[in-house]
Amino acid sequence: MSMIYGNGFGFEREVKEKGIGLIFILSAPSGTGKTTLVKGMMEQVPGLRFSVSFTTRLPRPNEKEGVDYYFVSHSVFQKMLERNEFLEWAEVLGNLYGTPRPDLKKLKSEEVDLILDIDTQGAKKVLREVDHPILIYLLPPSLKVLRDRLMKRGLDSLERIKFRLSKARQDMEEALGYHYVIVNERVDESIEKLKSVIIAERCRRNKVSIIEENKKKWEERNG
Ligand code: 5GP
Repeated sequence: MSMIYGNGFGFEREVKEKGIGLIFILSAPSGTGKTTLVKGMMEQVPGLRFSVSFTTRLPRPNEKEGVDYYFVSHSVFQKMLERNEFLEWAEVLGNLYGTPRPDLKKLKSEEVDLILDIDTQGAKKVLREVDHPILIYLLPPSLKVLRDRLMKRGLDSLERIKFRLSKARQDMEEALGYHYVIVNERVDESIEKLKSVIIAERCRRNKVSIIEENKKKWEERNG
């Protein structure tokens, strides 16, 4: 394989630089460090787009409208639901979250892959709606680390932290149904792992086009 990719045909560069319309789903208990990882990975891998969800929860300090979420009222969310505008939606810890329906053809023609940061309920719904999304589960190194991170973040009451931890424990079972599990011990290592998954999946899912393109180029070169 490395012969084909390494001999000047440029496909290695292409899979690293271009998306092919894939849907990557990232799930993790709150406080795992998912946002940092997603940002780090997107800075390093071209051809990735983050799907900005709609939510009824209030913005946190540093969160930006249209970047982290679209923050909407219950009634706006409800109207969007009635118009069937969500690919999936779920209630998470008392707030509503919804993923806008992506235009899959457009994603492909724009050569981007889409990253969905959604919970395990949402992931199951997307599996029913979209062909072969790639599921990645991020785990904190331990429940203790997760608790410490949530405490340090200072966004939740003790009660809520306890609730998040018990949900995280239940949720971990769901990770078995995911394609990849990454334990977020060190940010730089986890970003490397995420990048590897994206590039490997681009190679795997694009193999027919890669072979066809290679055939054409070989024929052109060899007359
Ligand atoms: P947070 O409020 O901490 O940003 O997110 C809480 C949880 O909601 C996280 O597990 C996150 O992955 C999930 N979430 C965010 N957006 C969506 C969405 O559009 N759909 C679903 N199902 N979950 C979401």
